[in-house]
Amino acid sequence: FPVDRIRNFCIIAHIDHGKSTLADRLLEMTGAIAKTEKNKQVLDKLQVERERGITVKAQTASLFYNHEGQRYLLNLIDTPGHVDFSYEVSRSISACQGVLLIVDANQGIQAQTVANFYLAFEAQLTIIPVINKIDLKNADPERVESQIEKVFDIPREECIRISAKLGTNVDKVLQAVVNRIPPPIASTEDPFKALVFDSNFDHYRGVVANIAVFGGRVKKGDKIVSAHLGKAYEVNELGLLRPDEHPTQKLFAGQVGYIIAGMKDVKEAQIGDTLYLHEQPVEALPGFKPAKAMVFAGMYPMDQSEYTGLRSAIERLTLNDSSVAVQRDSSLALGAGWRLGFLGLLHMEVFNQRLEQEYNASVIVTAPTVPYKAVLSSAKLIKNRRAVQKNMVYIDDQRVMMKYLFPLNEIVVDFYDLLKSLSSGYASFDYENAGYQAADLIKMDILLNGRPVEELTTVVHRERAYSTGKAMCERLKDSIPRQMFEIAIQAAIGSKVIARETIKAYRKNVLAKCYGGDITRKMKLLKKQAEGKKKMRRIGNVEVPKDAFISVLKRK
Ligand code: GDP
Ligand code: MG
Repeated sequence: FPVDRIRNFCIIAHIDHGKSTLADRLLEMTGAIAKTEKNKQVLDKLQVERERGITVKAQTASLFYNHEGQRYLLNLIDTPGHVDFSYEVSRSISACQGVLLIVDANQGIQAQTVANFYLAFEAQLTIIPVINKIDLKNADPERVESQIEKVFDIPREECIRISAKLGTNVDKVLQAVVNRIPPPIASTEDPFKALVFDSNFDHYRGVVANIAVFGGRVKKGDKIVSAHLGKAYEVNELGLLRPDEHPTQKLFAGQVGYIIAGMKDVKEAQIGDTLYLHEQPVEALPGFKPAKAMVFAGMYPMDQSEYTGLRSAIERLTLNDSSVAVQRDSSLALGAGWRLGFLGLLHMEVFNQRLEQEYNASVIVTAPTVPYKAVLSSAKLIKNRRAVQKNMVYIDDQRVMMKYLFPLNEIVVDFYDLLKSLSSGYASFDYENAGYQAADLIKMDILLNGRPVEELTTVVHRERAYSTGKAMCERLKDSIPRQMFEIAIQAAIGSKVIARETIKAYRKNVLAKCYGGDITRKMKLLKKQAEGKKKMRRIGNVEVPKDAFISVLKRK
């Protein structure tokens, strides 16, 4: 396919502004999928995406489009809008020359509109502003165009007003893609060179890599090498994503597609890797900046016998989501497991859900924490700053964009929900890492009958220590069953106890309900009790149900 008739673009926007719906219409209009009422966010293929109604994975689709007597190959990438998945957006952008920046005609510019605009702008891509949902009663495209002009410095004449839902003006979007976005700079004469921009593990076929071909050509049977490991593989299958896999004989410079080459290990074909032909080495492409984890949590198998299975599930899922940081960890109470780093709380929830749904794994997740750096000097005496205003820009007379410096701990858990409810859903929010700041933090231990419980140790702000300690003791009291002796639950800072709860002694006699005789029933009850004990962990002499760790750690 001639390179000058290829266009690679992605759709970016704030969450819910209509990216996936526009993708549906583009797929229909180019005949990639049939036109039916039922096509709703067809690129959101994962169960977690369908259930939550959000995109969490970028998806690629190759479309053929006839324009002024010429046939064009359009490679579209639909991206997630939520801040936790912006890593998907930045990777998608590296395979593209242009973006469709969608803005809701009613809501106007929102936090992730700005964040995603800058990702595209910094990568020097062509930006096509598209105002969506003009069919809405409250649509005000006029006002949104003014915002786009003011905030992004893009002339209002460049905006395309559409309704992705009804299909209005979607043809104009396709024309703009062809007319405004430049073709990729790539030559089929160069040696083969491709960027792995996404990858997933197929239970039967091993690694399926999504690649953008930057030069040359590759065909079935070719011997290719991954720059990262230097290992050679034979290409078993390759093709276009339309959006389902559509095998072809070859892939050429400028094209985006998939490749399967007998890679059976998740360490092969990592996202960001460069592929080239055997004995024709090329300089590796720059790859991707590693994602910076913002939220950390422990993950453990329900039962240690499931450790190996869970390990391979985590490895395979992180191949598809390389923004997760993985470290081995172990805990007295929960056994061997991992400490995982995520880009946010939603990211953590989605990862967990995908493990369960796509890999049938059940896990125990500990409460999320944010990273701190400890400096052992008097600098901690510096007064903690909660939120410091950095700047403020009026987007128009009704909307203002404000920047604040926050301790991450203050925003990861419930800040977003609070902001949404305080502003009746009008405010939106985005964050990036601003580095470490000194704060008055202390380490708080939780003790059971005098023994510290390692996984419940937390870092808290000095002013919050008392209330947090008290709440944790109360929740623990509710989740630990009475035992044959008294249990003291304490929160302590160093040797100083700041909160205490007591569980009174009690003897649970499971046989009390059996009135004499029935021996099989007695055996059953005893067996049940023994099984119940397996779900318990011993801290000193105290038996703690595994769920207790989670319910205590879950902050309200
Ligand atoms: P995304 O998060 O940007 O991918 O947004 P979706 O495509 O999932 O759409 C979010 C919601 O907006 C869905 O309920 C869509 O049906 C709705 N929507 C998308 N485009 C339009 C439109 O042009 N008009 C109206 N009225 N609703 C739309
Ligand atoms: Mg979407």
